[in-house]
Amino acid sequence: MMTGEQYVDSIKKINMEIYMFGEKIPSSADNPILRPSLNSVKATYDLAQQPEYEDLMTATSHLTGKKINRFCHIHQSTDDLIKKVKMQRLCGQKTASCFQRCVGMDAFNAIWSTTFECDQKHGTKYHERFKDFMLKVQENDWVVDGAMTDPKGDRGLSPSQQADPDLYLHVVERRPDGVVVRGAKAHQTGIVNSHEVIVMPTIAMKPEDKDYAIAFSVPLDTPGLFMIIGRQSCDTRKLEGTTMDVGNCEFGGMEALTVFDNVFVPNDRIFLDGETDYSGMMVERFAGYHRQSYGGCKVGVGDVLIGAAALAADMNGAQKASHVKDKLIEMTHLNETLYSCGIACSCEGAKTTSGNYLINLLLANVCKQNITRFPYEITRLAEDIAGGLMVTAPSEKDFRHPKLGPVIEKYLKGVASVSTEDRLKIMRLIENLTLGTAAVGYRTESMHGAGSPQAQRIMIARQGNIEAKKALAKNIAKIK
Ligand code: SF4
Ligand code: FE
Repeated sequence: MMTGEQYVDSIKKINMEIYMFGEKIPSSADNPILRPSLNSVKATYDLAQQPEYEDLMTATSHLTGKKINRFCHIHQSTDDLIKKVKMQRLCGQKTASCFQRCVGMDAFNAIWSTTFECDQKHGTKYHERFKDFMLKVQENDWVVDGAMTDPKGDRGLSPSQQADPDLYLHVVERRPDGVVVRGAKAHQTGIVNSHEVIVMPTIAMKPEDKDYAIAFSVPLDTPGLFMIIGRQSCDTRKLEGTTMDVGNCEFGGMEALTVFDNVFVPNDRIFLDGETDYSGMMVERFAGYHRQSYGGCKVGVGDVLIGAAALAADMNGAQKASHVKDKLIEMTHLNETLYSCGIACSCEGAKTTSGNYLINLLLANVCKQNITRFPYEITRLAEDIAGGLMVTAPSEKDFRHPKLGPVIEKYLKGVASVSTEDRLKIMRLIENLTLGTAAVGYRTESMHGAGSPQAQRIMIARQGNIEAKKALAKNIAKIK
């Protein structure tokens, strides 16, 4: 396993084509807006080195018997699935942001079982290839971005019916040694902090969409592959050279529109090509794992937000008010309900024919459906407790100003024993989590990440087994 520092050095060595604010930038490591996102991924390496977190952060590879980072693991039991969720809660607690490494882990496990089943039916050789790839991932302790979401253009049309065929990533040329692909993947979490990207199809496909049923992996410095960074609310505060106004100065997340402009993929990195009947399975399983993931990561970030709200109350003397206590109870209840769903879909997981473990898909979708709602209510309650100061507090530069500083110190004081500076730091953290850069990960990503709410409702409808429930009712009512 790499240390955090070794990981950062390894990313610096990859010559990626990254654009932000209309300019090409060298690496996330040297950029003040992106560096916090690299730090979040680095935390997944640092925590794995700490003996107290070894049980959650590491696993034993079923391929080599060696100790590996759990983010590179193929789940071998329901216990592994449970530990995955616990690890994600821990990482959320330590970073208060998206630590980005889960998409790759979820892609590994979805592709592991799907390639096995595809090979059984079609006589293809994808699983062995994927096993070779996983050996490299584990030996090198790589971060792999899992790229699923195509831009999708007209949502009423299938991939091959789009006016612009590139709105879904597809094969444009076939060569004896591989394929050339063109298209884009939107909202790519952590892509500039990754060593490799695994591309998967984004929807179930029909036979006419053959060229779109493609899964593969390439390194981030592959010619033709480039990223355009998505901006986040309050992102340029990180350029001001102060730390207080950022709220979370060390950690963050990042997303980018990732373009594949005629990218060559060698045969040994292709894990699905044209088997349209397995595209849906890959999507369903990846989405299921990632919906489970949110029952860990969002809960960890929620822990930080609940703690920040409780501190805000302590700092202005409202902590004993019964309504404040009740709001903290409600936030805790909602957050632990999300965790319960993450744990439940893991406990109810089952072995696939390939040998790895898949979560219970119905419960994973229920988990994510709740996540499209509860963080919004937790956020509302945090803003309620924090008060208006979280959006009206003066800047750190004003606070450091010789004339204004003492005035701010005097008038924005809460209880006498707490410094105004500490109070403002907590306000900024709540602002960051609810409205600032981390709100991407805690709010809108809770809505749309791992699939928008309707995607889960379709799966809940499919898995809910209404007919069996009707039979139960008929039985009780004595209807033949
Ligand atoms: Fe991991 Fe959560 Fe970020 Fe997805 S949103 S990559 S599960 S931290
Ligand atoms: Fe996500």
